[in-house]
Amino acid sequence: MPASKSNQSSSKESAPTQSRKRGEKVTPGNLFVLTGPSGVGKNTIIDRVLSEAGGLVESVSVTTRNQRDGERDGVEYFFTDRESFEKMRAHNHFIESAEFAGNYYGTPRNWVEQRLKEGLDVVLVIEVQGAKQVKMHFPDAILIFLAPPSIHELEKRLRGRATEPEDVIAMRLDKAGQELKERDVFHYEVVNEDVDQAVNNVLAIVYAERCRIKP
Ligand code: 5GP
Repeated sequence: MPASKSNQSSSKESAPTQSRKRGEKVTPGNLFVLTGPSGVGKNTIIDRVLSEAGGLVESVSVTTRNQRDGERDGVEYFFTDRESFEKMRAHNHFIESAEFAGNYYGTPRNWVEQRLKEGLDVVLVIEVQGAKQVKMHFPDAILIFLAPPSIHELEKRLRGRATEPEDVIAMRLDKAGQELKERDVFHYEVVNEDVDQAVNNVLAIVYAERCRIKP
């Protein structure tokens, strides 16, 4: 059963912001989407945001891509094959899904909707096609674009990470160029030049959205 990345590791656990009495009506949580080109630092930023902002949990996606060294099934991703993914998608298992650099990725519906109902804020760390689907189906979702200081800096980071072969890096850079043109889809843009500053900016967005008076 899907679980949040934050629930898998005690260091990432975040307590709800306010305690609730039994039977009290729960205000649904906010749905945040963090998008940005591959290699921009989305996971680094969100890990720090999760450890600081109580009441925020990250959804674990399903993917068909190969497991990288150090990745654990059910923690970074649920790893599966294309046939199983297609079946899950046909059964409406995902709130959004996309093909990225030759692999499928999808966000489990039940887990996310349940957490929101419980009043927790949920963050999805996904690419731009998925972000657009979320925007269509969840009009109240808050979309944040994490941008690199420049495309050259992004290329340096992708190569420095050394998790993919050259052809995959080229595919991801090409995709990054397209994603950077889609900033208009988002409500906020945070440039990841300095990690501390980027973490503070994402936290500021989370806190501000919690205070926003909703219609
Ligand atoms: P990676 O293979 O580097 O882990 O992820 C490739 C891209 O897919 C990243 O931009 C990542 O944020 C995105 N991604 C991860 N999970 C999902 C998902 O469930 N849906 C979509 N649309 N994109 C995802």
